[in-house]
Amino acid sequence: MTTAGHDHSSADGTSAGAHQQGRHRVVIVGGGFGGVQTAKALKKADVDITLVDRTNHHLFQPLLYQVATGILSPGLIAPALRRVLKSQRNVRTLLADVGDIDLERKLVHAAAPDGQHIDLPYDTLVVAGGATHAYFGHDEWAEHAPGMKTIEDARMLRSRILGAYELAEVSQDPAEREAYMTFVVVGAGPTGVELAGQLSELARYVLPREYRSIDTREAKIILLDGAPTVLPPFAKKLQRYTLETLEEKGVDVRLNSMATNIDADSITVKSPKGEERIVARTKVWAAGVQASPLAAMLAKASGTEVDRAGRLPVDPDCSLPGRRDVYAVGDMVSTIDRLPGVAQVAMQQGTYVGKQIAARSKGDDTTPAPFKYFDKGSMATIGAREAVADAFGVKVTGWLGYLLWCYIHVMFLIGWGNRIGTLYNWVRSLRYARNRGHRLISVRASYDESLAAEHHSHAESFGRDIPEKQIS
Ligand SMILES: Cc1cc2nc3c(=O)[nH]c(=O)nc-3n(C[C@H](O)[C@H](O)[C@H](O)COP(=O)(O)OP(=O)(O)OC[C@H]3O[C@@H](n4cnc5c(N)ncnc54)[C@H](O)[C@@H]3O)c2cc1C
Repeated sequence: MTTAGHDHSSADGTSAGAHQQGRHRVVIVGGGFGGVQTAKALKKADVDITLVDRTNHHLFQPLLYQVATGILSPGLIAPALRRVLKSQRNVRTLLADVGDIDLERKLVHAAAPDGQHIDLPYDTLVVAGGATHAYFGHDEWAEHAPGMKTIEDARMLRSRILGAYELAEVSQDPAEREAYMTFVVVGAGPTGVELAGQLSELARYVLPREYRSIDTREAKIILLDGAPTVLPPFAKKLQRYTLETLEEKGVDVRLNSMATNIDADSITVKSPKGEERIVARTKVWAAGVQASPLAAMLAKASGTEVDRAGRLPVDPDCSLPGRRDVYAVGDMVSTIDRLPGVAQVAMQQGTYVGKQIAARSKGDDTTPAPFKYFDKGSMATIGAREAVADAFGVKVTGWLGYLLWCYIHVMFLIGWGNRIGTLYNWVRSLRYARNRGHRLISVRASYDESLAAEHHSHAESFGRDIPEKQIS
């Protein structure tokens, strides 16, 4: 592998160093909220930082649902990491997938996109690998009910959602049409609520006059959750408002309802009324998260154990128990005070850890005060003009909540270009034109190979008997 200015040789002869001899080396794994904040907090520190991520972008996950529903283009919420950290001269960004961490030899093992092995030696390591979907022991559901964690996930969902209407338009079979026009979102937390609200607005306000054979207003949007309420951690008043608003938008909200089976054509749901099989081609998983496998890897290497959600326990200063040279922050860790898996926690932990490393690089080796989370509140949108927000003890709903939500989300995006672009798209998509400007889809590619193979074998087994589709 060729990289500029090598100085660190690795075990296998490759190297990926580009820093000054003798300077303290910090490796940060993950360029999400936790990783980027750690790097930024080290801006003025006399250290060499290598930030390694398997994607080339810093993803603003809270707006993924807007990519999935065609409101925003992926680039607006996922600026290149290189660009984000361009002016910070002590950071070098690497695109590589971290596969192993050797705590004894202080080496991070990663693979570049072409498969080349990269070894990254460190003096201090910060791991901020985030989380992934959890299907509660039913990983086979993932292909039929994908979740939304990456830009690829959101683009794939956009293809499935808009593709379902395309397939309904060409279908001559009423039952098949209904299956294409039924959308089920599993999980009524903020992501599920936001997505269900947007699916309803797509069907009712955006698409109706564009199709000739179907009436998109007949689409069924179902939101289900095993809990007895939507938005479980929010205040009762906000939960009530959210439920009423969703129902006004025609969303069929089913609480106390657990998914018991999911396949390509349907989802089976168990509720106090009994078990029901809902025929629906498009299902979205917004129900559970599992820490990055990096958490289990670090736990194993350091002799600790992860919790039920796969999260790594860390000390009050976010370091690995017994190791002050390794820190972990964000969604992949659990702390004594059981902090929620939200961006603010990851960012504040990143800043806290960065400051500790900076202090230590100046020779200050005192034990820091434990990490303390400052809760700035939580919020969720329900539609283009409705949101709930609980910030600084004040609970607001409706248009005011929506404005607050817009302001905070725009300000947290990185770069003025992205902020202005996002605002422009919101005004255009949600307020005036009620169009969705980003509707490129690739329906075939959105279904994975096994599903494609299943359809293919169906076609083969029925052979010549399949009539050609007539479009009337
Ligand atoms: C759909 C959705 C909506 C959300 N909405 C909100 C919201 O409204 N408000 C809120 O506060 N929070 C929200 N969250 C949660 C918030 O996004 C997370 O809490 C936050 O991203 C956690 O930051 P992190 O740094 O721990 O992980 P992430 O931001 O996920 O970053 C992890 C990074 O690590 C990289 N990585 C992982 N494994 C490897 C590896 N092996 N090698 C190299 N790189 C690796 C990933 O590519 C990624 O860039 C939402 C999350 C999702 C998925």
